[in-house]
Amino acid sequence: MDFKTLLSSWYTINARSLPWRETSDPYKIWVSEVILQQTRVAQGTAYYHRFISKFPTVKHLANAHEDDVLKVWQGLGYYTRARNLLAAAKYIENELNGRFPNTYQELLKLKGVGQYSAGAIASFVFKEPVPAIDGNVYRIIARIFGVFDSPYTSQGKAVFRKVVVELMNKSAPDQFNQALLDFGALQCVPRSPNCSICPFVHYCYAYKNNLVDILPTKAKKIKTRNRHFTYLLIRHGDYTFISKRKSKDIWKSLYEFPLIETEKPLAAEKLQDDDEWKLLLASSDPEIVYFSPTVKHLLSHQVIMARFVIVNITKTTKGLLDRFKKVHTSSIDSYTIPTLIDNFLAAEPAEKYFLNPPTP
Ligand code: SF4
Repeated sequence: MDFKTLLSSWYTINARSLPWRETSDPYKIWVSEVILQQTRVAQGTAYYHRFISKFPTVKHLANAHEDDVLKVWQGLGYYTRARNLLAAAKYIENELNGRFPNTYQELLKLKGVGQYSAGAIASFVFKEPVPAIDGNVYRIIARIFGVFDSPYTSQGKAVFRKVVVELMNKSAPDQFNQALLDFGALQCVPRSPNCSICPFVHYCYAYKNNLVDILPTKAKKIKTRNRHFTYLLIRHGDYTFISKRKSKDIWKSLYEFPLIETEKPLAAEKLQDDDEWKLLLASSDPEIVYFSPTVKHLLSHQVIMARFVIVNITKTTKGLLDRFKKVHTSSIDSYTIPTLIDNFLAAEPAEKYFLNPPTP
């Protein structure tokens, strides 16, 4: 049996039942593909339902405020995906008069849509015979056909693409692409696949040559950046202070408390010597009521070592009011905040000292 027949037989028995496979609406499939770019199906499904119920059509999304889109996305990470979805929805509404692009080439013009997503939408919805190659597909092709090129270089990607195009079932590109994705997610998994039950075991190059752990060729390790954050949860009566992150950095457009970032950990006894602390709080009678232990928060290429300081003040300063928005502590929930802060606010110290401080 050839590759596509074996794959198709496997898929007939093992296809995953996924909510976005029950629709032919390109908008919904696009949303699901963007969510799944960096997220596992189990976590992504709940977000998919939430997103579609809040923004059921591209028009709803195009008319949404960025803060509302980010709020639905909160906790999913890689927030650029949400901002790109919004920008692309506006482009579809305003530049294409609401007509969803229906070819691979047109889909590529949408912000945040790369070759994989364009291939997925074009083949799943419009049955265009184009590949949808993600990490699963690179892994399967590298192992079965012994492709040693790196999937992390443009030359290597071109090699994989050529192989997939040649293998592809052009009369059912939707099923072929979905079958490959499912095969990578369920059978030819990254670590310790159960090769003994695999339909390709008799001609899989990696299996026959004991290279299952070696293929596909791995990415060069990217250096991790360590950062030290001290967040100031400043309480002025029932109010506190937040601002929106603007720079080209992690968590762009999300809200956070006043932040002191330092090269090294900022010791508790040094906090009040810090220039930022002095600028924001020196003339406000600050009283530190809680200093958290260090929390380690992992991002893809960064490690954030964070501490939270809860401070009561009796008067505000110009330094604070010029740079931060004064909001009621009970309204924090309505702002999109990074998971790091969300986790702290859900923990007991924040509940006790910040959201509901004991009455004097
Ligand atoms: S034999 Fe093992 S490595 Fe080869 S395709 Fe099957 S699961 Fe993947």
